Amino acid sequence: MSHEFDIIEQFFKPLCQLNSDEVGIGDDGAVVNCPENHQLVVVTDTLIEDRHFPKNTLPYDIAWKALAVNISDLAAMGARPGHFSLALTLPEALNNQDWLSEFAEGLKALASVYQMPLIGGDTTKGHLSVTISAHGWLPKDKALLRSNALQDDDIYVTGVIGDGGLGLKLALESINKASVLYSSQALAKLNRPQPRLEFGMALLDRALSSCAIDVSDGLLADLTHILQASNLSAVVDYDAIPVSQQVVTWLETENNPLLAITAGDDYELCFTANKGHREKVMALAAEFDLKVTKIGELKAFNEAERLLLLKEGKSLPITHRGYQHF
Ligand code: ADP
Ligand code: MG
Repeated sequence: MSHEFDIIEQFFKPLCQLNSDEVGIGDDGAVVNCPENHQLVVVTDTLIEDRHFPKNTLPYDIAWKALAVNISDLAAMGARPGHFSLALTLPEALNNQDWLSEFAEGLKALASVYQMPLIGGDTTKGHLSVTISAHGWLPKDKALLRSNALQDDDIYVTGVIGDGGLGLKLALESINKASVLYSSQALAKLNRPQPRLEFGMALLDRALSSCAIDVSDGLLADLTHILQASNLSAVVDYDAIPVSQQVVTWLETENNPLLAITAGDDYELCFTANKGHREKVMALAAEFDLKVTKIGELKAFNEAERLLLLKEGKSLPITHRGYQHF
């Protein structure tokens, strides 16, 4: 067992690398420089044991995911990475060198990809809970906003949808040996999501999109946030939504076509772009070696039909849209 200040000094201070005129961990607050002509973006996400991740999740993965979900929010704004803070609530049983050093390794692994220093936080005792606030920078007035979508724009998603949801299902069930191999891709997506930060930045920089959201609660739920904020309706081609072979099998086994697009935990970007940008969007995807798929189009707001989901040309009833926290 270590004292709070020893934990901070040993595990978290090494992640705080700042310029000599900035102040990080060790004072009452962090003091950082702001780039000129940029706006500050602040995002926060909490992960709670048994709610957002199962009890047996590795400390490395908990840390990775807690930071990744925040960076995914920055990506959805088109932000450049800045820094982050960490509020850690730790049960007595996990206050040991092994757990803390693995946790710090997970944080460091992802933070170093984007050179994001850990600039402060809080450390308390209690039921395991990890809250990260990440900070990013946006060229002034250029944020990718949910309210910026326009009628007739195309709707795209990055990557594949549903692996995170499948991973969670497998992680919560006791997985039999045969399915461990089968599920490794899904579990990797659940535990170590790869935020699409560079791609979000490029969408903004090349002015290909001004509206994005990250898919955390379920594609249908998150797309609906765009529709509400932009006051539009949408037609989505169910058959175009990109899914892995594993997810196809999952949907067939459970006989529920909505599972993947309502499960959440994808951390892909859903974004909109003018039809005239189709070739440029695909060229950008190729440049980033990232799968990007057009899944639908935005329509004028129609009260009777906010979201029309077409499967083999026929309307697929939407019985629910995604994960609800309350
Ligand atoms: P205070 O009592 O002023 O709130 P704390 O004792 O909570 O300060 O924290 C001391 C310093 O350590 C502060 O700079 C704080 O930001 C930092 N800190 C505390 N917990 C963490 C953590 N989990 N990760 C990073 N920095 C932390
Ligand atoms: Mg404090």
